[in-house]
Amino acid sequence: MNIRDKRIVIKIGTSTLTHESGHINIRRFEELVKVLSDLQNAGAHLILVSSGAIAVGMGKIGLREKPLDIPGTQACAAIGQCELMHLYDTLFGRFNHNVAQLLLTKDIVEDDERLQHVQNTLDTLLDMHVIPIINENDTVAIDELVFGDNDTLSAMVAILSDAAGLIILSDIDGLYTSNPRTDPTAAFIPFVDVEKDEVESIAAGVGTARGTGGMVTKIQAAKLCHPAGIPLWILNGSDPRNLYDWLDEKPVGTYFTPKGDADHANR
Ligand code: GLU
Repeated sequence: MNIRDKRIVIKIGTSTLTHESGHINIRRFEELVKVLSDLQNAGAHLILVSSGAIAVGMGKIGLREKPLDIPGTQACAAIGQCELMHLYDTLFGRFNHNVAQLLLTKDIVEDDERLQHVQNTLDTLLDMHVIPIINENDTVAIDELVFGDNDTLSAMVAILSDAAGLIILSDIDGLYTSNPRTDPTAAFIPFVDVEKDEVESIAAGVGTARGTGGMVTKIQAAKLCHPAGIPLWILNGSDPRNLYDWLDEKPVGTYFTPKGDADHANR
């Protein structure tokens, strides 16, 4: 894909940023920021939707189990969000890129005025070549903490920013016919047209290891992007260099076609 002057939204899941211990995966974090900086240098206008606040907050205060109550989870998100942004700011700074934090709630799309404010801010940041980093505003958004779903948020961000594509980085290569962790016959699905292909029942059985949304919310994200003409890819974020393969149009990840690209010509 020619990314020059294109807005690309990249959603980064908790499992990409943290070890199973819950602590930050420093090597992964560094590699990811390096590759993203390179895409930005190639002329893309990146917008990141980053999860990880709760896990990073838990790791920071030494909690091994996620708090069972909402205020406890919200407190962890508040602690982790600072740490997360500190890391992004420091690491992107090494490559001479500036970042900005936007904490949104999904209901902004229901209010034209608030939506316009978000769009204005995003447009201005992108004009300044700053990389917006978005998360749900976890202290006010109860639903998201219960359902855990930055996938839908990333689709909304792709639509409201009129993005040329959405990439969801997960801890799995893409969509399979069944769970490849438990079923050796699971086959990889390289292309999906959400209008025609029956993928929902497949997705229900395929979670990701530590992400909260799993495949179901990724299919929901694809269903939002499809009618808006936005292509969506699921790539494995455990090797951030997969983004280079994506850039070089090599077969990597699962491609969810947007409306009007049934023959995958835009891949
Ligand atoms: N907003 C949550 C966090 O930053 C993540 C929700 C999700 O995993 O989708 O921890």
